[in-house]
Amino acid sequence: MASEEFDISHIHLGERPLIVCDVDDVVLQFIGPFQLFLQSRGHTFLPRSFRLHGNIVSQADGVEIEDHEVSRLIEEFFEAQELWQTPLDRVVETLDRLSEEADILFLTAMQPRFQDQRRRLLDRMGLLFPLLATEQPKGPIVHALHASRSLPVVFIDDMARNLHSVREHVADCLLIHLMPNSPVHRFAPAAADDITRATDWTHAAELIEAHFVSGTFTRAVPAA
Ligand SMILES: [Mg+2]
Repeated sequence: MASEEFDISHIHLGERPLIVCDVDDVVLQFIGPFQLFLQSRGHTFLPRSFRLHGNIVSQADGVEIEDHEVSRLIEEFFEAQELWQTPLDRVVETLDRLSEEADILFLTAMQPRFQDQRRRLLDRMGLLFPLLATEQPKGPIVHALHASRSLPVVFIDDMARNLHSVREHVADCLLIHLMPNSPVHRFAPAAADDITRATDWTHAAELIEAHFVSGTFTRAVPAA
């Protein structure tokens, strides 16, 4: 994975812990608003497995929407996200508080061309932290950001594959699996046993604070 495939040159980290945070279904509601968007287009999402393709049908006749059409609907939703997406409970105040002691970065698996819409939406909610939109695997990105630092790092995501990617590439990272209790997330692949499942942002903040004071992140920092 060449680092040229993502641009982190606009991310400037301070000498303090780093919290890397997924956006869809972690900071902004995705699956709920997306279902409302589909209804507005005459479609229905059937939570039959943990994927969108193959599970969206026409309300009129129950016929499955073809894959290329589903991809187009997802793009239209991201284009119009400012009209639909809302923050998760307590995420705004929790990240605001955590930002007093840590840098926060939003790492969103979304096509970069929708970055402006997402930036405006996050800004409107007071979530002014830097944003990186890329569909590249997340592990190499967190590695590129953090590998040379001896400071705590936290990664939060609702997708097991992203958590596993970061675990593969970043030592001593606190991995938090935070996902909505939605019908479709019940089909989500489980994360590995050593990845902590947080029930909500209050719980996630407790895990993060405990990690910051635990010292388990220290890596060969010589005593002064
Ligand atoms: Mg997500």
